Amino acid sequence: MIAYREAIKVTGTDLLSNAQWVLAFCRRDLTKFTSFERLQLWDQILALCILATRQPTKSTSDKTLTSAERQAWERASNWPRYPWDPKQTAEQSEEYDSWWQHLLGIHEIQCKTIEEATTGRPVEMPMTHIVLSPSPKGPIATFPLTSFRTSAEGTHFSGADGAMAVRLLQILQKYCGLIRRCPQCQGMFIASRKDQRFHDSGCRSMMGMRKKRGRSARQPKSRRTQAKG
Ligand SMILES: [Zn+2]
Repeated sequence: MIAYREAIKVTGTDLLSNAQWVLAFCRRDLTKFTSFERLQLWDQILALCILATRQPTKSTSDKTLTSAERQAWERASNWPRYPWDPKQTAEQSEEYDSWWQHLLGIHEIQCKTIEEATTGRPVEMPMTHIVLSPSPKGPIATFPLTSFRTSAEGTHFSGADGAMAVRLLQILQKYCGLIRRCPQCQGMFIASRKDQRFHDSGCRSMMGMRKKRGRSARQPKSRRTQAKG
């Protein structure tokens, strides 16, 4: 499965790389995305959904898909590419639009949640339609388009929001308290130590210089006071 392998080159397969991916995802302006970039983003989201819905076993490598996963991937990955209506191109279809709105919704929820995590406030992720199944490691959300539900409004397939929420919760569980906002550049980062306040040494020394300048500007006055006393 080439698309999956390409996607995990960007997202990584471990929680730390996935966390870095989410932070980068939150910095991106999705309104500027070309249709090709949208498809790439979708494959990356699906890769994270695979990792979220998978039971970690020694027999399955992170780099390959099982045959069931391959089938599920094939269907979900083609959501924005299907010719839903033969009179329209895929991109003109309502399904394409609802798929893209779905991605924008995921972007909004993921960014809001990670933002909340930097403040130390309890994190909440509102979900409208999530299908869960039990597993030894706790409830697992279903992979996009593998289950559906019929309600008064019609039939809805499960989207990627549930599995993405699970992956973000797994990230937050592991890096709770380490996802921070750098006081110098305002960028979000994952601290490698509990006492790390700045995202890198550049920002730390910039802030140090700013403080020093602030001090030296005040110093002459305080020295005069000391001389008199
Ligand atoms: Zn910084």
